[in-house]
Amino acid sequence: NSVFANVVRAPEDPILGVTVAYNKDPSPIKLNLGVGAYRTEEGKPLVLNVVRRAEQLLVNDRSRVKEYLPIVGLADFNKLSAKLILGSDSPAIQGNRVTTVQCLSGTGSLRVGAEFLSRHYYQRTIYIPNPTWGNHTKIFTLAGLTVKTYRYYDPVTRGLNIQGLLEDLSSAPSGAIVLLHACAHNPTGVDPTLEQWEQIRQLIRSKSLLPFFDSAYQGFASGSLDKDAQSVRMFVGDGGECFIAQSYAKNMGLYGERVGALSIVCRSADVASRVESQLKLVIRPMYSSPPIHGASIVATILKDRKLYDEWTLELKAMADRIITMRKQLFDALSARGTPGDWSHIIKQIGMFTFTGLNTKQVTFMTKEFHIYMTSDGRISMAGLSSRTVPHLADAIHAAVT
Ligand code: PMP
Repeated sequence: NSVFANVVRAPEDPILGVTVAYNKDPSPIKLNLGVGAYRTEEGKPLVLNVVRRAEQLLVNDRSRVKEYLPIVGLADFNKLSAKLILGSDSPAIQGNRVTTVQCLSGTGSLRVGAEFLSRHYYQRTIYIPNPTWGNHTKIFTLAGLTVKTYRYYDPVTRGLNIQGLLEDLSSAPSGAIVLLHACAHNPTGVDPTLEQWEQIRQLIRSKSLLPFFDSAYQGFASGSLDKDAQSVRMFVGDGGECFIAQSYAKNMGLYGERVGALSIVCRSADVASRVESQLKLVIRPMYSSPPIHGASIVATILKDRKLYDEWTLELKAMADRIITMRKQLFDALSARGTPGDWSHIIKQIGMFTFTGLNTKQVTFMTKEFHIYMTSDGRISMAGLSSRTVPHLADAIHAAVT
């Protein structure tokens, strides 16, 4: 008998489980809108041309070796990543007040930041939006933080509950950590306006709360890298401290390469260098040092003007295709006279639309139309194409009528 005979089967991950169910469905019309990964009009995964070119350059460079990276990762990559999110003229970078460490994509960056906070920060409570990306609760809880939520989404308006958000953060204990989606909030697609960001910033600073940005979609939301970084830059511009977890999964299509960065903006260069020394103690016993390939691709692209420009064009094309899918779906529902207000489909931003469909309607659409999505009614716009929009619109129409 196995010594593990008592191990109980764990449930499938709610997001990745959607794909498992999709793969089992033999129907030729099946459609997977569960995964948060970009697909082309033909429904295929996309490797950016600029990534292929950078990889070619790396392969052809015989001086490149496969030695270990330092604990904090590739130095060039770290510097360029901080510049990308904070802006090349950032006073925080110029003042050496930012420490950046290469981590295992967005998830790893969040986890390393959380582990550091749980060891070195006096306040153990982190506020995350309700709802949020499902992994947030688990990441922060396992790092030893206490997770609480703040109101974010208003199901009635299918927009931001700014009043509830401000009230909940007002009653948070001084010093509490606040997780903020830098742009393209997942799963709702609802972001604060710049005015609302300013209100949030003032409240966070006046209560000495600590902002922790999750930036998983820079450039992917609006098509502009600078625009999608505005929220973060507002908080760094006031001279205060903050954490930023960056992912290159979406905006460079490097999902499986696991490339990301954690930046901690500090009050002084001295603090930043001491913080970095402690980050190394977090990372070393966890995975020793990060992988070299993905970070080399990113650094190659970010440091070369031509490759960088080429990247921004390809990134914009991905963002634009998603925006086009929003318009097409909205138009298709209007054409069918589907009851209800569907304008949130074009108002929401980023990879996902929070449709407002309930679990029962989702189950119906999966059963009758072979359309797969998370049970909260979130659909990945990147998984749609002009060809599949009518099928989805038929399904939504049938589900609500
Ligand atoms: N944060 C959010 C909000 C996300 O949507 C994702 C990706 N689904 C991540 C972080 C992290 O993704 P990754 O670890 O693949 O970079």
